[in-house]
Amino acid sequence: MQYQLTCEQVGALMAFYIEDKLSEKLSKYVEQHLEVCPACREKYETMKKIIKKYAAIQRNINKEQNAENQSIYITKQYEEFKSNLSAYIDNELDDDENIKIKKITISNPLARKDLEEMYTFKRLLHNSFEKTKNDSKEDYTKCIMNKLQNDNANCYEKEPIFGIIAIFSALIICIVAGIIGILYL
Ligand SMILES: [Zn+2]
Repeated sequence: MQYQLTCEQVGALMAFYIEDKLSEKLSKYVEQHLEVCPACREKYETMKKIIKKYAAIQRNINKEQNAENQSIYITKQYEEFKSNLSAYIDNELDDDENIKIKKITISNPLARKDLEEMYTFKRLLHNSFEKTKNDSKEDYTKCIMNKLQNDNANCYEKEPIFGIIAIFSALIICIVAGIIGILYL
């Protein structure tokens, strides 16, 4: 035999039933009662409308509050942070700018969220790059072997940075030699 709820019990459970917060068993009992009791069913329909309406209003309020809360964080510093974020993650900023970024991520939740998202994005990118690199590991090794066999001139051609460093070093040596020359001759 099935357990029967009284109208009073159903009334007490009604709000929870509408918000779907009852256990499956209890929910079933309420449902069964509503099927046979027109008075409770009417109460249920009315209450459902009120609760749905209230939930919709509450959602709107939350949405407005969120928009309001967020807008305080969209400052000039935040805009600057946004434009430097990618460079920060790639370690391309100077110390002052790095500190600015660290400060804003502590004080500004929007900035913190952006930074986390950017890190996740970069990590995904990195992972897929690593995968590609592993796939072509053999080519990569061959490339290094070729590089080792090449002479220095070729190396400069392939890596312009070495050329720049070499020119730069030569320049510094000339300047130092010049200074020594002026001082001692
Ligand atoms: Zn009833």
